[in-house]
Amino acid sequence: MSHDHSLVPLWQIPGIIKETEHTIIRQAQMDMHASEIQCLQAGKNLPKSSPIRALSPILDENDMLRVGGRLGKCLKMDVSETNHIILPKGHHVTTLIIRYYHANVKHQGRHFTEGAVRSGGFWVIGGKRMIASIVRKCIPCRRLRGKLEWQKMSDLPLDRLKVCPPFSYVGVDAFGPWEIVARRTRGGLA
Ligand SMILES: [Zn+2]
Repeated sequence: MSHDHSLVPLWQIPGIIKETEHTIIRQAQMDMHASEIQCLQAGKNLPKSSPIRALSPILDENDMLRVGGRLGKCLKMDVSETNHIILPKGHHVTTLIIRYYHANVKHQGRHFTEGAVRSGGFWVIGGKRMIASIVRKCIPCRRLRGKLEWQKMSDLPLDRLKVCPPFSYVGVDAFGPWEIVARRTRGGLA
């Protein structure tokens, strides 16, 4: 057996997934925060109007925007724990990452999802609202947590509304009761 690297799938080459992740996140950050990235590269202060100014962002060795902070000298913690990667608000890549972590915590609520995104090393701009809206629209969550809906009854027929002596009209309920078999499922009785 010869070591022919052309037979190795792309995703099994060491580092390629990380590198792809960096490229995609960098692109998302460029889409929304290009001016801030330029400022940081030039060593200038961010403009007052910038929505990420309060995070005092920094550029890491891969040119990714990360939350700044005062834990940079902490040797016990990894940079992914102390300086989260900034994800732009409303960006499609951000949506996909939130959905991934939401599914990862088995569709628990927005607080769990938010915690999972954060421990994954990401800081979403306007994260609370964005995560809440993604969880609200999540199809499996809607199925599991949706309210029971009832059929709206139609208007009563005229002969049931007319004022007349008792037993002028009678009706016979010729249906059932039928014996059925029910079993408990996770969604309730079926
Ligand atoms: Zn869900």
